[in-house]
Amino acid sequence: MAGTDAATEGATIVMRVDIVTIFPEMVRGFAREGIVARACERGVVDIAVHDLRDFTTDRHRVVDDSPFGGGPGMVLKPEPFFRALAHIRETRGEPSAVIVPSPQGRRFTHDLAVGWSRAEHIVLLCGRYEGIDERVVEALATDEISIGDYVLSGGELAAMVVADAVVRQVPGVVGDARSVSEDSFARPWLDYPHYTRPAEWEGRRVPDVLLSGHHAQVARWRLRTALERTLDRRPDLLDGPGFAAEAGADVERTLREIRAERQGSRSGRQERKQES
Ligand code: SAM
Repeated sequence: MAGTDAATEGATIVMRVDIVTIFPEMVRGFAREGIVARACERGVVDIAVHDLRDFTTDRHRVVDDSPFGGGPGMVLKPEPFFRALAHIRETRGEPSAVIVPSPQGRRFTHDLAVGWSRAEHIVLLCGRYEGIDERVVEALATDEISIGDYVLSGGELAAMVVADAVVRQVPGVVGDARSVSEDSFARPWLDYPHYTRPAEWEGRRVPDVLLSGHHAQVARWRLRTALERTLDRRPDLLDGPGFAAEAGADVERTLREIRAERQGSRSGRQERKQES
């Protein structure tokens, strides 16, 4: 039943991820490509995709039924989910978290991804139609997670979002650990802009400092642009408690400089306006 099982014999499995869905091929595709696939091949992560229909007992493998109380749509029945989780517990061990993607859940964040990346085993139960029978959520879920304020047709995309964000935080999954530690949200500010060859394309030049080979200046430019774009796009990150805890003297000083320069150019503009 496993969609993409760890292939490297003898390797230590760091993390198991089980995803229960009525569209297993949709999810297996995700586990066959890119960083997640490589992590599975190397045995760092073991992803198993389970077809909810395999846990039905009737001839037609029915997983849904109409809602009590009437109304539109269908609801995913409880029994197949209970059986699927019992099977996962039996064959793959007790999970640290059973996550139900739902637009009504707690918003998924970087911190949750990091937290779950330290777990040995997580399970994701994907809803469809009007959702999953509430008794599944009450009895089995440790977390209900939303990936944003919009409604998807099913939990598969959300489960893949969660699994991808979690897996890339597992140590050793992304080749150079700096890629992960310097990403947006890894620190309470956004990543700096990235450029590659050619140095000029259609009249747009890469900032000179990045071509200078001067590592200290490159680092200063990166910190400054990261903080500038955080101020422009996500100023809330700089006001949160995480920022005070994480920002060192360099960050504090650079942010003060940017704010002072911006304040200066605003006052200059106001003065010129009053004069004219
Ligand atoms: N009737 C539900 C409601 O309004 O809250 C929406 C059900 S939705 C059409 C079907 C399934 O998609 C949900 O059970 C959930 O698994 C998933 N889903 C939809 N939007 C989501 C979101 N923003 N975050 C996570 N999962 C979502």
